[in-house]
Amino acid sequence: MHYVSTRATSASAARNPENFCDILLGGLAPDGGLYLPAEYPQVTSAELDAWRTLSYADLAFEILRKFATDIPDADLKAITTRTYTPAVYCNARAGESAAEITPLRVLEDGRNGKLILQALSNGPTLAFKDMAMQLLGNLFEYALAKNSDELNIFGATSGDTGSAAEYAMRGKKGVRVFMLSPHGRMSAFQTAQMFSLQDPNIFNIAVKGNFDDCQDLVKAVSNDLTFKARQKIGTVNSINWARVVAQVVYYFRGYLAATTSNDQKVSFTVPSGNFGNICAGHIARMMGLPIDKLVAATNENDVLDEFFRTGVYRVRKAAETFHTSSPSMDISKASNFERFVYDLVGRDAERTHALFRKVDTHGGFDLSGKPGSDGDEFKQVARFGFASGRSTHNDRLDTIRDVADDYDITIDTHTADGIKVAREHMAPRVPMIVLETALAAKFNETILEALGTDAERPAGFDDIEALPQRYVVMPADVAQMKAYIADHTGL
Ligand SMILES: *Cc1c(COP(=O)(O)O)cnc(C)c1O
Repeated sequence: MHYVSTRATSASAARNPENFCDILLGGLAPDGGLYLPAEYPQVTSAELDAWRTLSYADLAFEILRKFATDIPDADLKAITTRTYTPAVYCNARAGESAAEITPLRVLEDGRNGKLILQALSNGPTLAFKDMAMQLLGNLFEYALAKNSDELNIFGATSGDTGSAAEYAMRGKKGVRVFMLSPHGRMSAFQTAQMFSLQDPNIFNIAVKGNFDDCQDLVKAVSNDLTFKARQKIGTVNSINWARVVAQVVYYFRGYLAATTSNDQKVSFTVPSGNFGNICAGHIARMMGLPIDKLVAATNENDVLDEFFRTGVYRVRKAAETFHTSSPSMDISKASNFERFVYDLVGRDAERTHALFRKVDTHGGFDLSGKPGSDGDEFKQVARFGFASGRSTHNDRLDTIRDVADDYDITIDTHTADGIKVAREHMAPRVPMIVLETALAAKFNETILEALGTDAERPAGFDDIEALPQRYVVMPADVAQMKAYIADHTGL
């Protein structure tokens, strides 16, 4: 299986075919595009039938081997078996089976259709990012050991991504993590989750400043190419291909668990920010999984909802990006969106490049087909199954209350955005699966506001705020940051 950049000319793609392991440790392609397989592997109905009885780990193996053809089967199987275990995804609710890894719960089966919740947040950091990041940790360790190499992950987090990366990479040979966070700005729970890690390969750096200062530091350090190469600096951000492909697995799992035969269809609603999660759904659908609708649910930061309603993609400025109570969806642009646009414009890399050049120069593009627009491909969107909706803080409060009253479970704020929007897209005879992207304990402030009581914490999280914390506080200073990294890598 070869990979191409969404911006490659056909000549450069033919010159530089990339394998899975070549792009595993990288981010953007050298031309600034994102990697995608040269063609999507197809899944037959016979395969789907055979997969109905597999464990999650074995299903992950069957799907990943279609994409990672350069990893020997035995090695890949060992990796998926080690990754997707009930011991890692142990935070299932009462009544759910941890062995399912992503258990389904039917919330409603009535005249409007069937509404199902698929739990993706039972991993160590209680958010769906563990689904991919845990695999990435094991893949990195495998690839680095093969080449006797090492990697220093350097990133910034306002919450979910940083902790998922640290829990995936802790104790892994050849990997260190340097994670910046804004000093004193994360929730007490998030801070405790990250800073209580005592593994010697994890370095938490609390920066005196806000999240943008942290991101600027990461950019400044990464732009020093000599330093970056000498210190073997890498990232694990949401454009990483392996993260996207790991997420394809749970769409298959959700489909197989919600249906009994392959002539049935299901729809998914996905709480969305950077378009990484729902992009995996798009890929599953392109592989032949019988998905009817893929519904992107956004919060007040509705870049994606605007596109799927109008065909206009308009990146938001910092002042137009809201801090909301579903903070992991507070984005100004959707960094994986280029992958879908590439397919939408018929896999025309030159056109994709031109559109995203326009994002850089004019802040967006318009595919509505109206006079003066940049094209009319928006009319193709329905063919790809996409739909969307938007939810606000009050919608979240209402939905958290409704779900607690009607189904007796507490959902988190991002999942609430998903359920609110899913209800607008239900259809009889097509089950609607909402992906649960975090557990409520992570966003307790809003649960208190909605319900007047604290969210339940999974076992083992009761006193995490009281655990000893390991971190350093540093000013937002590039030179000091570089010195700190070099000191601790010894490179
Ligand atoms: C990251 C995240 C999202 C958004 O996912 P994308 O892949 O960026 O679209 C939604 N909910 C939660 C809880 C998250 O952590």
